[in-house]
Amino acid sequence: MTTETAVRDVNEIRNLNFLEEIIENDLASGKYESIMTRFPPEPNGYLHIGHAKSICLNFGLAKKYGGKTNLRFDDTNPVKEDTEYVDSIKEDIKWLGFEWAGEYYASDYFEQLYEWAEELIKKGLAYVDDQSQEEIRAGRGTVSTPGTESPYRNRSVEENLRLFREMRDGKYADGEKVLRAKIDMAHPNMLFRDPLMYRIIHASHHRTGDKWCIYPMYDYAHGECDSIEHITHSICTLEFDVHRPLYDWFIEKLGIFPSHQYEFARLNLTYTVMSKRKLLELVKNGYVSGWDDPRMPTICGIRRRGYTPESIRMFADKVGVAKRENIIDLQLMEWCVRQDLNERSNRYMAVLDPVKLTLTDWEPGKVEWFEAPLNPASPDGPCRRVPFTGELYIDRDDFMEEPPKKYFRLRPGGEVRLKYAYIVKCEEVVKDSEGNIIELKCTHDPASRPGGGEWRKVKGTIHWVSVPHAVKVEARIYDKLFTEAQMGQIPEGKDYKDYLNPDSLKVQDAFAEPALLEDNSGLAVQFERIGYFFKDPDSTPEKAVFNRTTTLKDSFRIE
Ligand code: ATP
Ligand code: MG
Repeated sequence: MTTETAVRDVNEIRNLNFLEEIIENDLASGKYESIMTRFPPEPNGYLHIGHAKSICLNFGLAKKYGGKTNLRFDDTNPVKEDTEYVDSIKEDIKWLGFEWAGEYYASDYFEQLYEWAEELIKKGLAYVDDQSQEEIRAGRGTVSTPGTESPYRNRSVEENLRLFREMRDGKYADGEKVLRAKIDMAHPNMLFRDPLMYRIIHASHHRTGDKWCIYPMYDYAHGECDSIEHITHSICTLEFDVHRPLYDWFIEKLGIFPSHQYEFARLNLTYTVMSKRKLLELVKNGYVSGWDDPRMPTICGIRRRGYTPESIRMFADKVGVAKRENIIDLQLMEWCVRQDLNERSNRYMAVLDPVKLTLTDWEPGKVEWFEAPLNPASPDGPCRRVPFTGELYIDRDDFMEEPPKKYFRLRPGGEVRLKYAYIVKCEEVVKDSEGNIIELKCTHDPASRPGGGEWRKVKGTIHWVSVPHAVKVEARIYDKLFTEAQMGQIPEGKDYKDYLNPDSLKVQDAFAEPALLEDNSGLAVQFERIGYFFKDPDSTPEKAVFNRTTTLKDSFRIE
């Protein structure tokens, strides 16, 4: 066995992803003493689950290898950016459980970037171009034909410096001039055909105000910012791989700290759109209630839905790091939150579609209190007290008049256990004039009381609430925002909004045991046998509102 294959085998056993392998090699070879990563959001929208993946990756790698991660706002476009977004981004990263080493802004580096641009001009590697945007585009050529050189390409260094300074001083209008790198108009990589470095934008910037009217382009700014911060591993999504040579070119020509860029596949999710432009449109056009609508894939939306940071980190981990585009099943995300909440959440009983169950043999007005564990994982842990009376609600589909085989819930003449309480038997079905079931008259078996007498087993157990004690809450039942799994591949002529799910939100009243309102876990709770629900900030003292985070199982019956 060669050393190389031996190393690969060991790495396979250790299950390292390709970035971890690179970092371990870099540390082992002494290329870097410690690693430095960054998360570089553009403050032009709220973060979404794709960003969460990138955050977990960047912060996670640094944490694992004893390095650090900077938060850098990529605020090079004054037109679309806002401090509102800066604040929300910071809140979201903290919520996910990460701490950044330094908080930086690309705009902090405008002066340095400007000086380096002058340096490139002086080296004959950049020039001011007077051509219009259209002329520049046309001059680029195509993949199969070389571009044509700009008539301004061979200006002297002195002229370029003078014009560039005048650009900075505000002498020219938007679009009148640009600064371009002078590379090769016939380069096979189109990005090398004299890429733009600076453009003129007369707009107030959310941090630098009116100090600047020229702004650096992504390709020029990003690598330089990485370099200033001594970022060792600059991780971005796959579509930037063609930009990498240019990233390297600027760093090499300036002879500055050699940051390196690595690409991984962006997170795509079924039934989800993730581009900020589309998310903004959903908000602006009122398809959702806001950026934090619980159906949104934004971090604030997911949080309001009841997802936990632990579940998102688990999800990011399970998704892994791929080098090729793929689509992750939304159900994986749901699976992760179920795993986490199943372990940690408190249980309460609630009935979503009530039908009345009356015990004809119960002493009128009598109340019995049952102790029920808040979490079955610790049966001896904290309990809540659940009141039981002769007047109960059960969920409508826990009763069937003519049940199929293997239906173990309540039926005429049949028995079922009311969870934590007695076994009851259905003696009579009461209907209204239209044939709807309005009441189930039952009797109970006093000997079946848990903890008293002999334990008798029946096949079905259902949840219930006591009518006089029930608290009415609003349940918001969320489903997928879109009806199509492959939202990235919708047919031509169709718009992603054509696939909005009309049933993505159903609002209904639910009846819950009173202890629900005293829950102060801060976590989503489990409505037993139904799903996980998280208290919404729309709750008032008169009425609590609960968002369904997820069902208990994919194909659970109450939908
Ligand atoms: P969008 O295209 O959704 O508007 P963006 O790429 O413009 O997002 P940025 O604020 O520029 O958003 O991204 C910050 C970081 O998050 C970048 O490093 C980017 O590569 C990463 N990122 C954005 N979307 C995803 C995604 N879907 N999966 C993984 N990483 C992502
Ligand atoms: Mg971007």
